[in-house]
Amino acid sequence: MIGADMNSFLSHLECAWCGETYEANQLWNLCPACGKPLLARYDLDAARSIFTRTAVQSRSPNLWRYAEMLPVQDPAFRISLGEGYTPLVKLNRLGAALGLKHLYAKDESFNPTGSFKARGLAMAVSRAAELGAKAVAIPTAGNAGSAMAAYAARIGLPAYIYAPQDVPAPFIAEMRALGAEVTLVEGLITDCARYVRQGVEEGRWFDVSTLKEPYRVEGKKTMGYELAEHFDGSLPDIIIYPTGGGTGIIGMWKAFGEMEQLGWIDSQRPRMISVQSTGCAPIVRAYEQGVEFAEPWQNARTIADGLRVPAAVGDFLILRAVRESGGTALAVEDEDTLLALTEIGSQEGLFVAPEAAATFVALKTLVERGDIQADERVVLFLTGTGLKYTHLINGPAH
Ligand SMILES: *Cc1c(COP(=O)(O)O)cnc(C)c1O
Ligand SMILES: [Zn+2]
Repeated sequence: MIGADMNSFLSHLECAWCGETYEANQLWNLCPACGKPLLARYDLDAARSIFTRTAVQSRSPNLWRYAEMLPVQDPAFRISLGEGYTPLVKLNRLGAALGLKHLYAKDESFNPTGSFKARGLAMAVSRAAELGAKAVAIPTAGNAGSAMAAYAARIGLPAYIYAPQDVPAPFIAEMRALGAEVTLVEGLITDCARYVRQGVEEGRWFDVSTLKEPYRVEGKKTMGYELAEHFDGSLPDIIIYPTGGGTGIIGMWKAFGEMEQLGWIDSQRPRMISVQSTGCAPIVRAYEQGVEFAEPWQNARTIADGLRVPAAVGDFLILRAVRESGGTALAVEDEDTLLALTEIGSQEGLFVAPEAAATFVALKTLVERGDIQADERVVLFLTGTGLKYTHLINGPAH
């Protein structure tokens, strides 16, 4: 059960770049001192004896089962549509074809609105409402907007969405049906972000852009806690993650650190593999160049809309996680992604989004390179459903 007895151990916010600390019980966006993301910090020592893997086991199968390590204080603000605790599915046929004994998918299409964006937005909208926001706004490639609209509707906050004009029609329909005001913008998600910023300056709404507020990453970190539960207190050897803003990589990496301090896991970490499209690969380029920040990508183009993020505010955090883990970053061709999409569908029965399919292309490359051993445990993050991307199957890509 989600109980009123589960108390958040949130203690303060800390800038991921300059280390400045901030009081957590008010609305913050980026660090006022340096403009980088703020991260939530918890009293892990105090939580250690209460927030155990055993204690969590009997709780409701959604992400609020980790309430002690989540920021929402008042249980009335834990907005839920059943997000999180998604299945870990063994991919026997695809695994066998690649000579891998333990290939898994984390099937995030089970989340409300069909993608893992629900995790982050459940948290950001809940916390924004708890801290007194009167409206929320977001720039989006599709899934984040849908998720924000759903949670805003659920708690009764007006929702404003800015999306590139080529966002697939099912997203627009979904966002409007969920009550959001949708504005289509000529340009990319970075252009949409400008409109959202303008509304912030005018005091119209709170901006829930990823990593520009501290809590979406908290929602997404629950994927890390879930892996520790799925693997009984260990972690997989390799995580393959389709990267746009990188919130999930950053979140899981943060979760691993917390879990070690909480005594859930040891110091072993999965190799974190960041996957982008060759048409928009700022993180891959920065990884290859050995630099700490990613230059914005010019003329970003890919069928995987969630990967069309030319500049990520958390770039240095993605790169740190990839490097510290001994992982890598690689870009895949859209053409291969499309083939992978139907391969995953026809071989394993999962109709996934192109971002998700990109992870399988990356996996094949890593296997060919000899970077993965047959008995290693590999998890592909299948981040969303294919149902909003039927134009890729039936008709021309945009
Ligand atoms: C947003 C999105 C991504 C990228 O997620 P980040 O955590 O922002 O890197 C991947 N897949 C899908 C389906 C998405 O909607
Ligand atoms: Zn700072």
